[in-house]
Amino acid sequence: MLKKYQEEHTVKNIQFILTDFDGVILDSDQAIFHVQPKDYLVSIHPFFESFSSLKDALDNDVIFNCVHLNFNDKEYITDIKFARKKEGFLVVVSDYTSHYTEYQLIAQSRNESIINGELIAIKNAELKERERFKDIFIRNFSHELRNPLTSIISITKLLSDTEMTSHQENMLSFLQDSNSNLKLLLDDILSISMISSGQLKLRDGLFSLKQLTQLIEFTYKTKAKESGVAFTLKVDKKIPEFVEGDRLRLYQTLTNLLDNAFKYTEKGKVHLDVQFNQIRANKISLRFEVIDTGIGISEDNIDSIFESFSQLNIYQNQTSRKGSGLGLSIVKGLLNLMGSEIRVISEVDKGSTFYFDIVLKQPILSKNKPVIVKKGSVKNKINLKEGEKYRLLLVEDDINVQTVLFKFLLSTNYFYIDLINDGSQVMGQLVNEEYDIILMDVNLPSVSGDQVTRLIRDFPFKNIKKIPIIGLTAYSYEDNFKAYKKAGMNAVLSKPFEHDELMATIGKYLKK
Ligand code: ADP
Repeated sequence: MLKKYQEEHTVKNIQFILTDFDGVILDSDQAIFHVQPKDYLVSIHPFFESFSSLKDALDNDVIFNCVHLNFNDKEYITDIKFARKKEGFLVVVSDYTSHYTEYQLIAQSRNESIINGELIAIKNAELKERERFKDIFIRNFSHELRNPLTSIISITKLLSDTEMTSHQENMLSFLQDSNSNLKLLLDDILSISMISSGQLKLRDGLFSLKQLTQLIEFTYKTKAKESGVAFTLKVDKKIPEFVEGDRLRLYQTLTNLLDNAFKYTEKGKVHLDVQFNQIRANKISLRFEVIDTGIGISEDNIDSIFESFSQLNIYQNQTSRKGSGLGLSIVKGLLNLMGSEIRVISEVDKGSTFYFDIVLKQPILSKNKPVIVKKGSVKNKINLKEGEKYRLLLVEDDINVQTVLFKFLLSTNYFYIDLINDGSQVMGQLVNEEYDIILMDVNLPSVSGDQVTRLIRDFPFKNIKKIPIIGLTAYSYEDNFKAYKKAGMNAVLSKPFEHDELMATIGKYLKK
């Protein structure tokens, strides 16, 4: 009874063909091909030609896999087995067309996915290489720019100390503005490159939030007077005076937002609100809000303003509002490093509110106020004895920086100065002459400044070994600074530096 259904459901995909020793068909079922007894096997399909060359050597079974056979306009993909029997040969043809087709499709998509994976890996490697190239380019590019900019800033300063007509003074003040804008732009480009390459590391320390907000108040009240836009500040009374965090980066974030608020507000006011959110264990959460009554940002543009170099087209012909387009992406990057996020609410022609929450540590304080050590603050008073002269060795190969620094140092009347432009001459000079301080460019020809510093620090004579060395570098990467200090430099100044900063640093390290 079952036979009928079995036949219906049995997949007829194996054909058995029995031939004599000459390949003449003796018997066959008709599962795949229609085969007539007494026909030659080769007449079914040219593939069986191989049989005639095989048959004499055939002792064991032989299987051919994945044999494509065209038969009656249909393609079969088969496995074919030849076996020697007493009557002749048994040929077993198994039709695996669907099996092989599926397998091929799987293999193909597997290969495609491997190829895609490899393509992605190649693309990633290319992107990484491009990023690396960009970082190196920005480093070198800023290095190249810093030297001439140092000269320009210094010459402008020297010029400003000379007698000038009011017209000249006017032009000079434009020059000074442009210099400081250029310096800020260079700093911005470096900041963004350091943030994106992960080289910017936070430096947490104890600081007075009160002092920070006072500094901001002073700066922006002055700006408010100049611009005619008011500035107000409110700090929640619950906020403790001292906190631990990265003061410099918090300051950089706030000044970027406040500068923008002033830039994009023509009338009304800019307000900074510092609110207390909560305190848990010794972690204190604060909210900073920069609110302005300026031109606002439309909803369509809100997302794009945080991208690097993005500036909204609407202001492009207003030069007063031209910035680098980097401010907000720096803010975003800095806050990201500090575990926070910048948010904005804005309405066109009404104004904008940029705000973020930040978690700072609350230090465990004794009754006395903590002592905050200021590291090389620019505001250090120049503490040199009036009328005293110090012997200074200037090692600098860039002729412009050399001239400018030489002239400036001379004009202070504090120094006898010797000049060297090659690192290899330094040791000889130190043995022959006595010096109170050395200003050393790091990037010198033949022997670099940090290598010379190492030689000096390893020198057996105390009077040479101990001479304070101030490094001058066009690089402003943290890693470089660390390496130069490790080499034995007492301090490192990043070009372009202000003369006050140079004098404050010299004053700090000179024996008085
Ligand atoms: P920029 O140097 O152009 O100010 P930013 O990255 O700081 O670059 O800002 C990007 C853009 O976001 C600005 O060009 C401006 O269009 C918009 N923007 C930023 N802050 C404000 C604000 N307070 N009010 C209105 N628009 C702003």
